[in-house]
Amino acid sequence: MKFVTYQTDGGARAGLLEGETVFDLHALYRRLPRKGQKGGGDVIPTDLLAFIERGSHTLARRMLTVARSLRGGARWRVGRPLAEVRLLAPIPRPGKNLFCTGHNYAKHVAESGSPIPERPIWFTKPPTAVIGPLAPVLHHGATQALDYEVELAVVMGRRGREIPREKALDYVFGYTVMNDVTARDVQRQRGQWFKGKAMDTFAPLGPWIVHRSAIPDPQRLTVRSRVNGQLRQESSTADMIFPVAALIADLSRGMTLEPGDIIATGTPAGVGMGMKPPTWLQPGDLVEVEVDAIGVLSNLVVAPKA
Ligand code: MG
Repeated sequence: MKFVTYQTDGGARAGLLEGETVFDLHALYRRLPRKGQKGGGDVIPTDLLAFIERGSHTLARRMLTVARSLRGGARWRVGRPLAEVRLLAPIPRPGKNLFCTGHNYAKHVAESGSPIPERPIWFTKPPTAVIGPLAPVLHHGATQALDYEVELAVVMGRRGREIPREKALDYVFGYTVMNDVTARDVQRQRGQWFKGKAMDTFAPLGPWIVHRSAIPDPQRLTVRSRVNGQLRQESSTADMIFPVAALIADLSRGMTLEPGDIIATGTPAGVGMGMKPPTWLQPGDLVEVEVDAIGVLSNLVVAPKA
C-alpha cells in the first residue's frame, strides 16, 4: 500500500496510490460498506498525518479493496490519474523536527574522514525544510558547497518510549525517501550540523509512503542517487552500521516517538563531497534519490529569487 498527499483546489488531501490512480482516502472511507448506516462519517481525516495517528492497517486494507473494486464513473469520482496529480511531501508539515542520523554507512564515514561511530549520531531538520516531489531545492547564497544524500526514511506509526529493538519495526507505519540536502561548507564551519542541514527546501521527502507490510525487511533495499542522470550513490541498506530497528530503539530511549515522526537513516558513499575534486550541486541540476520498493524522488536545484 502506498500513501500520498496531493494538491487539490481545496487544499492538500491524503490519498491511496493503487497502480496509476490516486484515490482520495476520505472519499474511499465514505464508500466503505458499514452495518446499519450509509457512508463513513467524519472519522477519517483528510490529511495523512492525522490518518497515521487515527487510522489502522485493517481499515486501510478495506479501503484498498474498495478502491480496486471501483469501475468507470465511480472510480473517477474518488480517483484521479497519478500523472494528473501534483504530489506533495507525504507529510508536508511534520509535527516535530525530522530525526536524522549521520555517518551510518562505513564507506560514507570514510569519505567524510571521520571515525566509525560507536553510537548513532543524531541531528534534526525543521518541518519548514520539507518539500515534495518536483519542488525546487533552493541553492541559497549561504553556501558554496551544496550536496545531496539519498536516505531511507522511516515514518513512525505508533507512540512509544523505550521501544525494544526486537519490537521496533512494529512501531513503523511505513517507509519513504529523503534527500538530506546539505550545505557542506556550513555544516563543517559550525561544529554542529544543524545550520548546514536545516535551510528551507533541504528536506525533499517522498514521493509516497510505502506501508511496512510491503517492506518486511528494511535492511534489504537498494538506495541510489543520480545527478543529471549520472549515478552517484548505490548501496544496500544492509550496509547500515545501525539498522532501522537499532535506530528506533536508540532514539526512543528517554524520548517519546509519535505517529508521523520521521527518521532518516543516513546516506552511503558517493556524495559530492567525496568526489575528486569535490563536485557541488549547481542551479539547473536534477537530483534523483531512489529506494527500491519505494520509488524515485526528483528535485531540481534552482537559484533563489533575488
Ligand atoms: Mg544524511
